[in-house]
Amino acid sequence: MKVYHEAEAKIDALKNKKVAIIGYGSQGYAHSNNLHDSGIQVVVGLRKGSPSWKKVEAAGLKAMEVEEAAKWADIVMMLLPDEMQGEVYANSIKDNLSAGKMLMFAHGFNIHFGQIVPGADIDVAMVAPKGPGHMVRAEYQKGAGVPCLVAIHQNASGKALEVALSYANGIGGARAGVIETTFKVETETDLFGEQAVLCGGVTHLMAAGFETLVEAGYPPEMAYFECIHEMKLIVDLIYQGGFSDMRYSISNTAEYGDYVSGPYVIDAGVKIRMKEVLRRIQQGEFARDWMLENKVNKPSFMAKRNGWAEHQLEKIGASLRALMPWIQKSKIVDKTKN
Ligand code: NAD
Ligand code: MG
Ligand code: MG
Repeated sequence: MKVYHEAEAKIDALKNKKVAIIGYGSQGYAHSNNLHDSGIQVVVGLRKGSPSWKKVEAAGLKAMEVEEAAKWADIVMMLLPDEMQGEVYANSIKDNLSAGKMLMFAHGFNIHFGQIVPGADIDVAMVAPKGPGHMVRAEYQKGAGVPCLVAIHQNASGKALEVALSYANGIGGARAGVIETTFKVETETDLFGEQAVLCGGVTHLMAAGFETLVEAGYPPEMAYFECIHEMKLIVDLIYQGGFSDMRYSISNTAEYGDYVSGPYVIDAGVKIRMKEVLRRIQQGEFARDWMLENKVNKPSFMAKRNGWAEHQLEKIGASLRALMPWIQKSKIVDKTKN
């Protein structure tokens, strides 16, 4: 596995390029501000009347409508929600990508699953930070960076990798390391990780623990602290020193419980089902279902989102967090700005 660092991912190749960041959501906010602070010419492409217009200008950046931004730029980075990229590409971007320009992504979904098929005369590359956008910004501001993946789908200019590595440098990723991969591997592993472990796996594990304690008659506040709040403290230890540091820090009693009850709860059936999740991703079944869900205005997605917002654990969590004002002070997400 090839990993690039700042010495091999110099920012020079980006210095004379104009970069359009399309969308000012989680990643768009981070990429545009980090590139700007790295001295790169950046414009943010937005819809007419988008509420982000004000946020972009308040950050000291320039906004343009998507078409205009794509026309102006040498490099167009697609940071819209994956499910909207195909439509925006077809309507506003495609015709503005003259030969020699570069189209970029932070996730391989649209290229790998054929939702966007770019012309052969442009470069197509990916720089995918392995972390949420708000962390990409926060780490950069600390002088650190979130590791990134880099992949090249089309190399019409012969310089696609050099420019993509430069981009990774500009957003701070090269400080941590830039791992070379393919659109296929990034797409399949990213979807699997978020579904089975990081987002789907973890939330459903925590909620099941919370519900088990509440259903057994324990106070929901206790259940929240034990099964949800403490997760961060444990994950921070793993983040810095692996499972071994975490197990070094917890009591021997907790460590013994980890070894006996962990594999009973997360048993062999879990891996069988994880393999099925991976198979559905690899065969394009997940992508098909997600795109079809969007065609009918996301009824099942919205029902789930609204249902979870009503879960007892969200209400208990909000009241407990209000008792810990220091958490609010260091919050990374500020919905008025980013
Ligand atoms: P997001 O949902 O946070 O933001 C998307 C932005 O696009 C929003 O500002 C929205 O208003 C804007 N938008 C929506 N429709 C638009 C349109 N028709 N025209 C113009 N603007 C429009 O998106 P995100 O989570 O930052 O994801 C962007 C890309 O980055 C995706 O490919 C995603 O897979 C990838 N990615 C995201 C993360 C993450 O931390 N969220 C991590 C790695 C990769
Ligand atoms: Mg993802
Ligand atoms: Mg304990």
